[in-house]
Amino acid sequence: MGYLFGLSSAPPHRIIQHVEQINFEREIAMAVPKQKISKSRRGQRRSHDALKPEANNECPNCGELKRPHHVCGSCGYYDGREVVDIKSVA
Ligand SMILES: [Zn+2]
Repeated sequence: MGYLFGLSSAPPHRIIQHVEQINFEREIAMAVPKQKISKSRRGQRRSHDALKPEANNECPNCGELKRPHHVCGSCGYYDGREVVDIKSVA
């Protein structure tokens, strides 16, 4: 940005050329919203942004908290049988 504040050593016509090129690229490339998003619409969009608390169930085998429909991370059991050998994994 030095050329905008007179710090550049480039000749003036090169600077003007460069600024014109930047403006041209902006008009072509940069997406600009047509209207302001009202507070209401912004709020409606953000109404879905909140994070939900993580679901937890007690493991029926060891009693540790685990995610529902997932293998227990502490004992390796799922649906009443050992699915993962935790000792060999860890
Ligand atoms: Zn368990």
